[in-house]
Amino acid sequence: MTTMTGHLTARGLMKSYWKGRNEVPVLRGVELEVEHGELLAVVGASGSGKSTLLHLLGLLDAPDAGEVLLEGARIDNRPPGDRDLLRNRTFGFIFQFYHLLPELTALENVLMPHLIGRSFWSYWRQRHPLRTEATALLERVGLGHRLTHLPAELSGGEMQRAAIARALAGRPAVLLADEPTGNLDAGSGQGILELLRDLNRERGLTMIVVTHDQNIARQADRVVQLAGGQIEEWSPALT
Ligand code: ADP
Ligand code: MG
Repeated sequence: MTTMTGHLTARGLMKSYWKGRNEVPVLRGVELEVEHGELLAVVGASGSGKSTLLHLLGLLDAPDAGEVLLEGARIDNRPPGDRDLLRNRTFGFIFQFYHLLPELTALENVLMPHLIGRSFWSYWRQRHPLRTEATALLERVGLGHRLTHLPAELSGGEMQRAAIARALAGRPAVLLADEPTGNLDAGSGQGILELLRDLNRERGLTMIVVTHDQNIARQADRVVQLAGGQIEEWSPALT
């Protein structure tokens, strides 16, 4: 084994769900390492555990066994307050169905992480620079003309762009994306893909993108496959 330290590492991750008295194993010893600035795609059949893995890596859920390490230091067993901070400041999340708050404008959605991450007064004192930064993020993802639109007034691709801007608001080092183009037509999906690739390059963001979109997989730095609860080398589908 090499001793080089990756950015985010999974060691022997195990996770089961319980259906009544039956244990349904999903992850059976996942070994994975992503390097700083790498764009890693994780492919796998529906139900193979891709979302489960992403949730464990981003501390949205805890493994039954195994470890998650950030720059070589274990993080999955930190106290809840530390894990909240890591979720808010180190990780950014992008989901298939955007998870924008429907009553808030695009700009307010991007400001949300700042409202969650600090006291109201701390937010209030910093509201002007935070607003400027959130506006710049929306401009960066191509939504400068949609700041005050509600999610329902945006297209799917625009909602995902807003969700990407929100994910960047906490200045994450690692972006975790769960089927980010899964609900989009091919054209919008390609746009989202190019945006993620550009952000990865210009900000040195480490990215793990879960997908069964072959297009994403092809444009990643590296592709691994989740099958039988473990990470395997990827073999492109013969389609
Ligand atoms: P993927 O994202 O690759 O489609 P998931 O990680 O969502 O796979 O799910 C893996 C397996 O675990 C599936 O069989 C799914 O039904 C099951 N599963 C996921 N979440 C839960 C849960 N909260 N409770 C019970 N079973 C679950
Ligand atoms: Mg999934």
